[in-house]
Amino acid sequence: MLGLYLHIPFCSSICNYCNFNRGLFESGLKDRYVAALTREITDAGRGEPVDTIFFGGGTPSLLEPCEIAQLLAACRRAFDVAPAAEITLETNPETSTSERMEGFRAAGVTRISFGVQSFREPELKRLGRIHSAQRARAAVVEARAAGFDNLSLDLMMWLPQQSTADWRESVEALIDVSPQHASLYLLELYPNAPLKEDMARAGWSLAPDDDAAEMYLWSMGRMDEAGYGQYEISNVARPGFTSRHNLKYWQDGEWLGFGCGAHSTRNGVRWKNVSSTEEYISRLDRGQSVVTERRTLTRDTQLEEALFTGLRLTEGIDLDIVGRRYGIDAWARYGAAVRPSIEAGLAIREGGRLRLSRDGMLLANEILSVFV
Ligand code: SF4
Repeated sequence: MLGLYLHIPFCSSICNYCNFNRGLFESGLKDRYVAALTREITDAGRGEPVDTIFFGGGTPSLLEPCEIAQLLAACRRAFDVAPAAEITLETNPETSTSERMEGFRAAGVTRISFGVQSFREPELKRLGRIHSAQRARAAVVEARAAGFDNLSLDLMMWLPQQSTADWRESVEALIDVSPQHASLYLLELYPNAPLKEDMARAGWSLAPDDDAAEMYLWSMGRMDEAGYGQYEISNVARPGFTSRHNLKYWQDGEWLGFGCGAHSTRNGVRWKNVSSTEEYISRLDRGQSVVTERRTLTRDTQLEEALFTGLRLTEGIDLDIVGRRYGIDAWARYGAAVRPSIEAGLAIREGGRLRLSRDGMLLANEILSVFV
């Protein structure tokens, strides 16, 4: 079934490491954006079955619950949304109150994904985050009280000045809070990130690469012990709580993206909406298409992407299924290139499956580059 992604490009403040498509919240612009987004969804619908909806951003929880309800109503009118659909709202702790959580629940949201990033105040400040660790804990309590029983928390590791002991403290705090799902990401510093300038000015440094590897391997082991199963390079979940929406990206699935800068993949075609919020709104106001790039994926590209994304999953890929789907013998084509990783213990071939070991996950980009 299809997944729907709805992009909400507004934030209360801009974090110094972020290169997502977002801008500062402005009430009038937000009102016009929600109207435009509703129109884009309405125009796109053909009644196809949908089983996941994901509000991402930006900070989608800056929308009012009635606006989330309006967008979900548009999705339901335009698509055949399954009664048990997974409906996720990315939420920043500073936007959370009991009342808003109850409103999001009543609007139909079933899953909250909190951008916590760290449970240590100095780290939150260095990243330009405006919530405190205490606010993050309170937000989780508010969400549970509102009836949410599917919560995810994001943490980032290898932050400036973060030691392995500091990282362990955040992971232990996350386990104390006991969400159903967690995403543990390594910080990626993009070339012009303001955080790089902040680091240079303040003399903050990153721990050595070996410490970053230790942080990753220790935390995945600790999450195992705490009853979470790793199912993707950066994602762990209690049984039955994997992110059904994000699995579509990794399992060669199909989705439609709505909103500025959103990507879609359907029937071997990929397209992207215009990134600028203003241009997105004005194109919809003028009745014009918001799509800026569209390309038909060749079979080779689809195969490469199926391998590249599928191997992010701990279960890896079934080479026979991929082979049948794309009409090639995947092992005959890539086996020689992958064999050195298998010999180094970074990849494992078992029966018809190929997967990365946990050590291999640390070097996933290098290993998976043989496919693209
Ligand atoms: S809240 Fe999220 S989307 Fe917004 S600036 Fe910070 S990291 Fe980026």
